[in-house]
Amino acid sequence: EPIIVFDHVVKEFRQRGASGKGGKSTRAVDDVTLTINKGDIFGIIGYSGAGKSTLVRLINALERPTGGTVTVLGTDITTLPESKLRPIRQKIGMIFQQFNLFSTKTVAQNVAYPLQLDHWRKDYQDRRVAELLEFVGLSEHANKYPSQLSGGQKQRVGIARALATNPQILLADEATSALDPETTSEVLDLLRRVNERFGITIVLITHQMNVVQQIANRVAVMSAGRVVEGGDVYDVFAAP
Ligand code: ADP
Ligand code: ADP
Repeated sequence: EPIIVFDHVVKEFRQRGASGKGGKSTRAVDDVTLTINKGDIFGIIGYSGAGKSTLVRLINALERPTGGTVTVLGTDITTLPESKLRPIRQKIGMIFQQFNLFSTKTVAQNVAYPLQLDHWRKDYQDRRVAELLEFVGLSEHANKYPSQLSGGQKQRVGIARALATNPQILLADEATSALDPETTSEVLDLLRRVNERFGITIVLITHQMNVVQQIANRVAVMSAGRVVEGGDVYDVFAAP
């Protein structure tokens, strides 16, 4: 069952400093057609500048395509007005390479933040935060600040925060790139549990081949804005 569909998507950026007609432009995403199905762990792999971040930003409409259509959770979001994006964005969680935690908030406050934004009752927030911290194995660290945590622990807080509002899709942008190999494996194990336990579709972008091999069931290889190879992870990485 398709949950994210790109149909001949193009995203062109005007170059910095270009002005007037005929200025140079970059095709960050160049005619990409792909389908991500519900329950997939979909890896998007490619070198820096290949267009991975732009592709992911098109999924939560942080960028709008200059061509083609993007459909997320059954809604065509290509030109959907900002005011109508909220229900879609609420179903999409995101985690980042640099974790993006609030340094002045505790672990529990970081995880509660999206619930606060949605005006959930305080007793529900507390219950949900406790449940999420238990799931990511950080219950004993609830009152610590991010600076007191290891990288792997910080990313687990990021994951708990991303899950707070029960999303159907989790976007992971180089989520393990700042971590050592052992911690990377731990975080990938946690993401696998997120996928299995809650049925959340995960879109994971990375420049690390081994990350995709460890966790993804499907993969798209990007180069210069295009998907140059894609499919079942075993087929794409199979030895000839
Ligand atoms: P990263 O390599 O981690 O994606 P970048 O420095 O490339 O970091 O990008 C940081 C931000 O700047 C992003 O929001 C990206 O979309 C934007 N960006 C990247 N390249 C350009 C560019 N050539 N002109 C304008 N903005 C850019
Ligand atoms: P990746 O995530 O694979 O490193 P990006 O999607 O960040 O690739 O970038 C793809 C290309 O688009 C790069 O050439 C980058 O400089 C360019 N780019 C990304 N964002 C912007 C932007 N906001 N303005 C101009 N160019 C951009």
